Amino acid sequence: MRLIPRSSSQFNTKFAVELDDGAWVEAVLYRKHTLCISSQVGCAVGCPFCASGSRGWMRNLHAEELIAQVQQAQSWAPSLRRVTVSGVGEPLHNAAAVETLLHWCRQHHLAPSLTTTGGSEEKLKHFMGLPHNGLTLSVHAGTESMRRKLVPHGLSLSRLFDTVEQCVPRLSRSRRRRLSLAYLLIGDGNDDAEQTGAFSERARSLGLSVYLYRFNPVAHGNFLPAAEKRYEEVVEAWRAMGLEVRCSSLARNEPNGGCGTLMAQAGRVFDDGSGNENQLG
Ligand code: SF4
Repeated sequence: MRLIPRSSSQFNTKFAVELDDGAWVEAVLYRKHTLCISSQVGCAVGCPFCASGSRGWMRNLHAEELIAQVQQAQSWAPSLRRVTVSGVGEPLHNAAAVETLLHWCRQHHLAPSLTTTGGSEEKLKHFMGLPHNGLTLSVHAGTESMRRKLVPHGLSLSRLFDTVEQCVPRLSRSRRRRLSLAYLLIGDGNDDAEQTGAFSERARSLGLSVYLYRFNPVAHGNFLPAAEKRYEEVVEAWRAMGLEVRCSSLARNEPNGGCGTLMAQAGRVFDDGSGNENQLG
């Protein structure tokens, strides 16, 4: 397995991760201290705004392949402090390998976190109790129908929220602080008052902090970012009702750093979605 730098911007470096069977995924180094890695080649959840799952699921990465992404990135970034499993794939669909990675990171003084659509109720409950430094639940919707549209094969909204509701009271205060909800704001999609209002009510009742992400368009798909004015309105409205809202960082706003922009492919030809195919290496 090897990491091949593909693009650099002010804050980020994106890598193609070539796996030993010729498949590839991507990883992003944010500000030289946080590495976002991929856990699967492709993804079965099928979020229509996301490039990572646009070719479906091909295989899971082994624990050794997760760890190797981190080890190789350390040669580019000796000051690496955090690892987040938020790239290509649904981490809870590859739970055993991801759990191994979490423990490995802790043993090596790296803070591990993950982003998930929920997997299954059992796995979600289990992962909430693991020694991670952050578990972010991708919600992206206020109603069940919007959830089905944007996260078609993820846990339903009711099962996701019910599971969190059952678990949160049993978590220590510090573990609860490490649990967050994410909402990717999409123009003419989930950015209307019905969706953002219903989501924020539920988030408030759970007492969890919220990431409001800006959408970075990907080569495939017809989704657009919400207008900047609407983004600011939502931040303001959610804060006014008492939610702790974390906005997209400058690094995440860069085109190579956004949610759902990482790619995966089974073959040896690197197709970055631009229409230009390149041999790896
Ligand atoms: S957003 Fe995450 S869960 Fe959804 S298809 Fe992309 S990688 Fe899979």
